Amino acid sequence: MSIQLLIINIAYFVVAVLFILGLKAMSSPVSARKGILWAGVGMVLATLITFATPDMHNYVLMIVAIVLGGGVAWYMGKVVKMTDMPQMVAVYNGMGGGAAAAIAALEFARGDVTGVMPTLLAVLGSLIGSVAFSGSCIAFAKLQGIMKKAWRLPAQNAVNAILALVALGLGAVIVVSGKPDPNLLIAFYVISLILGVVLTSPIGGADMPVVISLLNAFTGLAVGLEGYVLGNPALIIAGIVVGASGTLLTQLMAKAMNRPISNIIFTPITGEAQAGSGPQGTMKEVSGMDAAAMMRYAQKVIIVPGYGMAVAGAQHKVWEMAKLLEEAGVEVKFAIHPVAGRMPGHMNVLLAEAGVPYDQIFDLEEINAEFPLADVALVIGANDVVNPVARTDKSSPIYGMPILDCDKAQNVIVIKRGKGAGYSGIENALFFQENCSMLYGSAQQAVADVITHIKGMAG
Ligand code: NDP
Repeated sequence: MSIQLLIINIAYFVVAVLFILGLKAMSSPVSARKGILWAGVGMVLATLITFATPDMHNYVLMIVAIVLGGGVAWYMGKVVKMTDMPQMVAVYNGMGGGAAAAIAALEFARGDVTGVMPTLLAVLGSLIGSVAFSGSCIAFAKLQGIMKKAWRLPAQNAVNAILALVALGLGAVIVVSGKPDPNLLIAFYVISLILGVVLTSPIGGADMPVVISLLNAFTGLAVGLEGYVLGNPALIIAGIVVGASGTLLTQLMAKAMNRPISNIIFTPITGEAQAGSGPQGTMKEVSGMDAAAMMRYAQKVIIVPGYGMAVAGAQHKVWEMAKLLEEAGVEVKFAIHPVAGRMPGHMNVLLAEAGVPYDQIFDLEEINAEFPLADVALVIGANDVVNPVARTDKSSPIYGMPILDCDKAQNVIVIKRGKGAGYSGIENALFFQENCSMLYGSAQQAVADVITHIKGMAG
């Protein structure tokens, strides 16, 4: 082995270690920043070492692509809002799958893929990468509000199956033919892209983040397969790491929503509200002053943040209020549902950003038994994740989803702007309960009002 190849292989080994250690560090909020940095350094190294690959040319094109892609990504990363993160992930993910499929297409067109096994892997990588690309584009359009409705074809599952079979059939012909005809290649890629669109279009917004995570796993697989074809260890390892973590994340989200993955893809709910079947009764309103008094003179308060806190960017105010309560001798804990907000870990990231110590943040399993002991459960912009119909109403689309048992607290205060339903589109029975009061207003301003009143109260 030449010195040049030895250095390249050592560099790829270092890259692999950085990716794996980076991912490991990302599993805890304490070390997540470090993890991102390590994985980022790994990616820079992998990119730089590509320039040293033997027979490499087109350096100018490579540099232009890196500057353009890196520049756009840098800018987008700076300006994207926390609440728009899922669609940004969808875009990046789609790019990964699309890049894997495009590289394979180029290899085919140049006649560089030879032998049954490399051709088979390139075909599989292309199929999966194309589905991930077009599916992610649809996911982006839905989350960005560009595509408002879920489109379901008649005999949707049969159409999916036929398209998948045609794509696999064309792929098989490519493998057998050895040197594929350009028209065959075009037909194969077009059908694969259509398959991604048709698979994703019927899926409702409520299930979309799970689909993005699944497509992310697909992208990992496509990149890994392409790595084998190109003989590139960094691609293989990055692909496997992304594929495995994407699969685990998908399972975690599906479990937290109590929706099997097969159910999400093949019998999607469309998130439409069920007219006339909501809870009966009225919602009671509470003033900022009364809410402040209830919490200031409580022994234990559990705060439940949700998507509304993220939209309002109220996490700093919430932590300021929690500190005031603690100074007054109140025990304050934060309860986080695994799918609160719009992506897993959404609330943990926001609370960590505001400075809430990790040992005050509890998962659903850890905290649920404590709600009956809490004087006040303060729900800030959360809805579906605290809806008790998930436990009680078998006809509800969220039936079976594990929820935070806020309804069992002595008193519940809910901060939200109005009577709007949650993400799934259904009414929340909690808001109509005897022990529940509504503090209407945007989270940031409502919490600020409570803070003012707490400050004005005697010790
Ligand atoms: P929801 O989307 O169910 O509810 C958010 C609530 O916040 C709304 O009822 C809204 O009421 C309120 N709100 C909106 N803006 C503000 C504001 N500025 N100030 C105060 N309140 C506001 O949120 P949850 O976090 O409870 O649930 C997350 C949902 O997302 C679940 O249905 C989950 O299944 C879904 N989901 C989450 C995923 C994840 O990974 N996190 C993945 C897939 C799906 P109003 O308009 O009246 O203010």
